[in-house]
Amino acid sequence: MAATGRSGTSAERAIGEGVSRTALLIAAARAIESTRSDAVAVDRYAAHFVRAEPSAAGWPLRFEDVPGGDANPLWSGDARYLGLRTRVFDDHLLEVARAGTRQVVLVAAGLDARALRLDWPAGTSVFEVDREHVLGFKQRVLDEVGARPTARRVPVPADLEDDWPSALLEAGLSPDRPTAWLVEGLSMYLSRAGLRALLRDVTRLSAPASTLVLEVKPDSHAPRDPAAPFYAEARTAIDVDLPALFNHDPRPDSEADLVLLGWTATSRGSGEYAGIHGQAVPSPDGTFGDNRFVFARKPTVPLPRLTGPDAQR
Ligand code: SAM
Repeated sequence: MAATGRSGTSAERAIGEGVSRTALLIAAARAIESTRSDAVAVDRYAAHFVRAEPSAAGWPLRFEDVPGGDANPLWSGDARYLGLRTRVFDDHLLEVARAGTRQVVLVAAGLDARALRLDWPAGTSVFEVDREHVLGFKQRVLDEVGARPTARRVPVPADLEDDWPSALLEAGLSPDRPTAWLVEGLSMYLSRAGLRALLRDVTRLSAPASTLVLEVKPDSHAPRDPAAPFYAEARTAIDVDLPALFNHDPRPDSEADLVLLGWTATSRGSGEYAGIHGQAVPSPDGTFGDNRFVFARKPTVPLPRLTGPDAQR
């Protein structure tokens, strides 16, 4: 059962409010990335989402419309990180699916269009968990543009502060089959206890051979410098105050937590992927440059337990 005090506020009722609004920011970044000549990820749905939200009117959606181009503190540099992250997780999820996993869960899916744009193997189900108003907005836009999913797409309206595991099971997730979990762009909004509870819930629902990828901020990111150019511009230009939305608890060591929960886990700096995709390392100015990706796998033969009476000796 989920812990309370996780992220945002249950009072949010519209995509343009609170943490939900960050899904629009990411969609805009993906739209812009898609139009760059050196794009690492292409998402043809992203611009439709932003266009459909009146409070995002005027946001640039093509690189050629970004004021100042590569010098723009909001829509270049750090925003390119969002394109890079999209590509790394696209590649990872497709690899896992092609290796045989047929259930994918996008935790806090927001306006993620992977269920519509990736070339999934036949028989793949993609579950999208997010708040009802976010998934409602998303569905309306997808219906308007006549979108056709490339997998069985299953929206799961649920609040991560409530009993979302039951909602997922009711929606058809089988805990007896391997699942590929994606937790992208969420952990920074969760309390320390909330993030740990989320990983426990995910573990309970995960059969052997399940995988998890989780984006985290290291504890050194603590101040989330509100004066950093990306954050300052996001506040003034599009009314998204990320440092105010982030949870300021000390960050847990999620890689270690996952190992204690019985997973094998490793983490990589996001910058390691920048070079592979021909990008500059995202700026280390207190925004995205130090984000890490934790990759975990639930072994088919359980590892010896690290907790319990034996561990106390
Ligand atoms: N994962 C998506 C992506 O990368 O495009 C969306 C990330 S967006 C930054 C954060 C998302 O977390 C939003 O869609 C928001 O609605 C969702 N979220 C935050 N707290 C939540 C909660 N308690 N329950 C459900 N969804 C939540």
